[in-house]
Amino acid sequence: MGQKDSAGTDGKTGADIGATKAWTTTTGNRDIRVAIIDTGVDYTHPDLKDNIWANPGESGEGRETNGLDDDGNGFVDDHRGWNFAGVSTNDPMDDNEHGTHVAGTIAGNGNDGVGIAGVNWVGSIVPVKFLTGGGSGSLADAVKAIQYVNIIGAHMSNNSWGGGGFTQSMFDAIKEGSDKGNLFIAAAGNDSQNADTIPHFPAGYQLPNVIAVAATTNLDTLASFSTYGKRTVHIAAPGHKIYSSIPGGKYDSFSGTSMATPHVAGAAALLWGTDTSMDAATVKDRLLRSRDYVGSLSRKVATSGRLNVYNAINAIYPPSPEPAESDWKDLALQSPVETAHPYSDSQTQEWTLEGPATAKYMRVVFSKVDLESGYDTVKVLDSTGAEMDSITGKGENVPSFYVAGNKVTLKFKSDSSQTGWGFAVAKLQVVE
Ligand code: CA
Repeated sequence: MGQKDSAGTDGKTGADIGATKAWTTTTGNRDIRVAIIDTGVDYTHPDLKDNIWANPGESGEGRETNGLDDDGNGFVDDHRGWNFAGVSTNDPMDDNEHGTHVAGTIAGNGNDGVGIAGVNWVGSIVPVKFLTGGGSGSLADAVKAIQYVNIIGAHMSNNSWGGGGFTQSMFDAIKEGSDKGNLFIAAAGNDSQNADTIPHFPAGYQLPNVIAVAATTNLDTLASFSTYGKRTVHIAAPGHKIYSSIPGGKYDSFSGTSMATPHVAGAAALLWGTDTSMDAATVKDRLLRSRDYVGSLSRKVATSGRLNVYNAINAIYPPSPEPAESDWKDLALQSPVETAHPYSDSQTQEWTLEGPATAKYMRVVFSKVDLESGYDTVKVLDSTGAEMDSITGKGENVPSFYVAGNKVTLKFKSDSSQTGWGFAVAKLQVVE
């Protein structure tokens, strides 16, 4: 969930992601259905009412309220979505503000001269409510909401929510959507933590259709609250003081990865609408590869970048100054580099590893890391002593972020309580 901001507005939604330029090509396509799994949506909001999905099988000739499951999908009169929040009704009205805010960013009507413009001016929002007015929801209702999106065959779902650990039932529901060809776009989280070592779900489900989204400020840096993860968070998008719709025809500014996620979902819809024959994998690949490279995000998200929807639509793929995965060559270790197993409290230990003089970049690959999360860390330093990575928690076959040159230093430090197995380095890798 996003945090509420009392501060003012920062211009129109999407202005920082190239949306204004993208709108010269397209302003959206009503054929692309975007499910908003959230607190519901105020489908009467002046900036949203024209962009709410009308289920064709449950609409017209009184089918909206005839008490029949006209389209046989298992839901009676689901003419605009569903409410799973502890109930099972066809009224997904927002009794919070969160889902309506998300909806405005994805598809606030941009052609009416009032309020906001979403990333899409026209679109089909499917409100799927499972969070209550208080903003909480059960695992069982979340799974039902995801399954509903799969049943109606929406192109994607926006998931600005999270919490709890890995569950097989939610994994299975998202995987079913992946197999059916939808995208699952999810907020990375607002706990300022590294999701590579402390996964945040559902963004942390390792499935082909998941896009995990971190939040940036209007200065194009990672927002202080944003969860990040070089290996598990895909891309960043604006999520600080985002002005959008709230119920009752009103507007407000919120911050959170909840607000970043609908920028990506909106961009996915705008892109997909330009060629409805694209599959989900292509849309995901184009969104990620077309990001603007942002140096300060290089150790924070996998693509080292922030969403750019203009680039996505025009197939512009800015190069990365970072080495490509295929450039890395293995170097055997001269001697083992590992902690004692288990390691001791209040310990420091340091290793400096050298590669050939021709090495442009170096990194280490840990065969295993098991350190008390957030308290015991192994830092990766370059030849000037600058910290390039800080690894904690658990993982296997984990590459570090790279350092420039042919020298890398590992600095291990444990605090005064709780230990784990430690870590072991499998190999060095260099780019020459
Ligand atoms: Ca139905």
